[in-house]
Amino acid sequence: MHQKSLTELRAALDTKQVSALELAQHFLQRIEAARELNAFIDVNPPLTLDAARAADQRLARGERGPLLGLPVAHKDVFVTRGWKSSAGSRMLADYVSPFDATVVERLAAAGMVTLGKTNMDEFAMGSSNENSFFGPVRNPWDRNAVPGGSSGGSAAAVAAALAPVATGTDTGGSIRQPASLTGITGIKPTYGRVSRYGMIAFASSLDQGGPMARSAADCALVLGAMSGFDPRDSTSLQRDVEDYTRWLGKPWQDAGALADRPLAGLRIGLPREYFGAGLSGDVRAAIDAALRQYEELGAILVDVSLPKTELSIPVYYVIAPAEASSNLSRFDGVRYGHRAAEYRDLLDMYKKTRSEGFGAEVKRRILVGTYVLSHGYYDAYYLQAQKIRRIIAQDFQDAFEQCDMIMGPVSPSVAWNLGEKADDPLQMYLADIYTLSTSLAGLPGMSVPCGFGTGPHAARPVGLQIIGNYFNEARMLQVADAFQRVTDWHRQVPAGV
Ligand code: GLN
Repeated sequence: MHQKSLTELRAALDTKQVSALELAQHFLQRIEAARELNAFIDVNPPLTLDAARAADQRLARGERGPLLGLPVAHKDVFVTRGWKSSAGSRMLADYVSPFDATVVERLAAAGMVTLGKTNMDEFAMGSSNENSFFGPVRNPWDRNAVPGGSSGGSAAAVAAALAPVATGTDTGGSIRQPASLTGITGIKPTYGRVSRYGMIAFASSLDQGGPMARSAADCALVLGAMSGFDPRDSTSLQRDVEDYTRWLGKPWQDAGALADRPLAGLRIGLPREYFGAGLSGDVRAAIDAALRQYEELGAILVDVSLPKTELSIPVYYVIAPAEASSNLSRFDGVRYGHRAAEYRDLLDMYKKTRSEGFGAEVKRRILVGTYVLSHGYYDAYYLQAQKIRRIIAQDFQDAFEQCDMIMGPVSPSVAWNLGEKADDPLQMYLADIYTLSTSLAGLPGMSVPCGFGTGPHAARPVGLQIIGNYFNEARMLQVADAFQRVTDWHRQVPAGV
């Protein structure tokens, strides 16, 4: 049951092979049995089972909907009424939100049943999930490996089949990178497509929510229900809700395409900067094999260039901390969250509260962010970074003159060992090289499982990145789905699942 796709689970519900309640109970048992992975921060069976019973009642009344009665896990960065909403931080460890994030509200309205809140790097800052106040998450493929971050709990939950789908957020790669490191499929849509209302803010000009699931088809279903205009988010885009499944199974260009070459006419751009020295050999081999598969499906490969790729790291690590330093100023011990137990006066209360409530990485970002925004440094760092960000976005537009989709690796290596980079923030930041520029440009990007590492890393998955132009999500999902129809990387599961 737990290995079924959302469409298969839908059919099981509709034919009454299983009820929403039984489905929820099944996944809750799996979550309980897999506690060692530390994928969840909050599990609350009474709340889950109530929602499942309500879904069963809707079904019994004859109501139909693609997601009605299907379980979902939410990254703990989305606030949820009744559940903990900690963002992986001690600052919010006991915080219970009085309202639901728009994403949570929409999926609940579609009848999805919340299984729990997934572990994450504190305030979504990290690439390995080792920055969580609630401890690291283990990669279900290899328990000595990190699951990626910051949506590592969501990724591990889906990879270990503790949930058929989970929500994630991506500021500089946090949907794509953990999806890649755990062998699942995840999509970060165009900035502004999914409401940020109720998503605890890290870097507001970059944060974007999206689904993480087994397949592109499952992601398409859930993305449709998550996205759409929200008047409560000032950066939400005024665009109609889309059916992201509409291109699945269709040929790329026209109905005349041969059945075994459905992607004839598709031009895939390969940025030469994504295949340079920093890319490990095993990842490269898996990506090359996936690209050959795309050629067999009829696509043609073209060389493109994204010349400012290297600068995306310093640019992102100026802009994201700058925005974070501003967003995190609200955690002052006065309004909500942690407050130091003892203090002398107001200033002392702020100081103690914030030194106790935030972890090391968050403090590092606040320091960097405050520095680059301060008088005298703003022009040299922040403004300069914004200018290069503009050029990075333009580079993508130049590349899209020559191709329809861009492909490359998500991560320069497969998952690394727990603790391996934990004391070296710079090494950790370098691991984001292929995901940051997409976020800086506001473009949609996804990760599709396409193989495994070699030698001692033979059980560690590799993800292929697909980057589309603005609002091309439906087409990206079509391209990912075409690959998944002829390969079975997305169907592989870790031993014992
Ligand atoms: N790894 C990046 C960071 O640490 C991206 C995180 C994210 O996308 N939330 O900031």
